[in-house]
Amino acid sequence: MGAGKRVLLAAPRGYCAGVDRAVVAVEKALERFGAPVYVRKQIVHNVHVVRELEARGAVFVDEVDAVPAGAHVVFSAHGVSPAVVSAAADRGLQAIDATCPLVTKVHREAVRFARDEREILLIGHEDHEEVEGTAGEAPDHITVVTSPEHADVVEVRDPSRVVWLSQTTLSVDETMETVRRLRVRFPELQDPPSDDICYATQNRQVAIKKIAADSDLVIVVGSANSSNSVRLVEVALEYGARAAYRVDYAHEIEQHWLEGVRTVGVTSGASVPEVLVSEVLAALADAGYGDVAEVRTAEEDLMFSLPKELRGDAAGLDARGRGGRTRA
Ligand code: SF4
Repeated sequence: MGAGKRVLLAAPRGYCAGVDRAVVAVEKALERFGAPVYVRKQIVHNVHVVRELEARGAVFVDEVDAVPAGAHVVFSAHGVSPAVVSAAADRGLQAIDATCPLVTKVHREAVRFARDEREILLIGHEDHEEVEGTAGEAPDHITVVTSPEHADVVEVRDPSRVVWLSQTTLSVDETMETVRRLRVRFPELQDPPSDDICYATQNRQVAIKKIAADSDLVIVVGSANSSNSVRLVEVALEYGARAAYRVDYAHEIEQHWLEGVRTVGVTSGASVPEVLVSEVLAALADAGYGDVAEVRTAEEDLMFSLPKELRGDAAGLDARGRGGRTRA
């Protein structure tokens, strides 16, 4: 073991309740209906998870028009707009909605505010599937605000009827800065009824903040299109990590990252199975960083029931309709 070399392992990290539910939904759909089961978009934003499910018979498509009429299709954890639901129905598809309930909550808020003739400023990344889905609930009432700088210039029709909502996987600090700047311009801006940035995103950011300043290097396990994983790299750097990188797999760790490094912080995004973190820890141990201390800032025990189409004994579920997976 390298003298003085250590790993600080953030907790909570990895799978959240919404990702767990979505992955189990595809597994159960394969068990119940047999392969192939079609999935619109990546079920969760993780390369490894998608490859594993593909190997078991899941077929990932970009849009429902690529699914044969009458087949089963799973909607991903990021949610879909009503237009996608209609398109699936028009093709006679058997839809299984694995949208995370915390994303559905934001959809409902959007529908309610639109019905109330509010103008909704949706803070998020315009090209992200979740934002496309939420914005599709009320396209005439929603304007996407992509950054604090965008808040300085975005135009609204009636500043007295403006409310903000957000994507679930943003940086908490940056979102609050966007809201602050929106409020400077629109003092009557209304807040959402509860946090839109989900518990898992917030908890993983709090945990990495705790270890960032003590870390010469932070490694975030997660995929490039995983919003919450990319945010963890940014938050680590903002809170004092000397360097921070994202990797999908342990073999992507570059030797020169470790030069002069005593403490490596490790965490993972909400769509990352723990096996990938274990492989990173094994690679670090091989490089002399075998001393691992977990730093926990919150406990998580939330679980969501499976989509209603998959509940019941026939799917091999427990009495609560849960998949029975144990999360790290
Ligand atoms: S990151 Fe949050 S919103 Fe997204 S699936 Fe997980 S719990 Fe749901």
